[in-house]
Amino acid sequence: MKRYFIAGNWKMHKTIPEAIELASELKERLADCKEKLMIAPPFTALYSVAQVLKGSNILLGAQNMGPEESGAHTGEISVIMLKDIGVRVVILGHSERRHTYGESDALINAKVKLALKHDLEAILCVGETLEERERGVLENVIRRQLTEGLRGVDTSMLANVTIAYEPVWAIGTGKTATPEDADAVHAFCRQVIAELYSSDMAKNIVIQYGGSVKPENTATLMAKKNIDGALVGGASLKAESFVPIAKFL
Ligand code: PEP
Repeated sequence: MKRYFIAGNWKMHKTIPEAIELASELKERLADCKEKLMIAPPFTALYSVAQVLKGSNILLGAQNMGPEESGAHTGEISVIMLKDIGVRVVILGHSERRHTYGESDALINAKVKLALKHDLEAILCVGETLEERERGVLENVIRRQLTEGLRGVDTSMLANVTIAYEPVWAIGTGKTATPEDADAVHAFCRQVIAELYSSDMAKNIVIQYGGSVKPENTATLMAKKNIDGALVGGASLKAESFVPIAKFL
């Protein structure tokens, strides 16, 4: 039976006390959840949430990291610092990083390789804008983001990579891709992975859907053949919505 990977991206929300409160509630209420779980608090709350999550089935995630191990990089957070705190997974190439902060495929690729080199799992986000979808270049965009994002990542490291398909127009907008549309793009992601690696790798790679996932739409999305989990933004900020998403079955 498929084990789904349900991840929460808290973005720039939660003070330390708020983060501790939510993480404590999730730890308790998701203790019996069989899916793979992760929450990614803001950097300032990582250490405190790491203490809360000790002994729990929820992995600690980070929302980003710098492309260098250390050095004169004002404002950046290094993979070594994340590991030191107990982070296990890092979200890379989120559309907000790509579109608001201008992160290129090359920069994202450098981060992916660095995370994997240090045994962190990477969630590589890909997704088209509405303009790209309407212009009919969705597949070109996804192919480019996957090919460039995974450049130099060898077969042995791919097991530590999760792909998150997040159509940019569905993030934080309340609009969800239909389960059929999402499934079709997930299938296309597998096709690209098969071309880059092998059909076995394509079959086994975990592909999350992200974009206005809510308790009401989770089960229908997860029922699709090519959807293996969810990357959840807004609905991960409250236990009332994240718990039912994580326990959708
Ligand atoms: C996200 O931030 O990755 C996301 C999918 O956000 P939301 O669930 O709020 O659309």
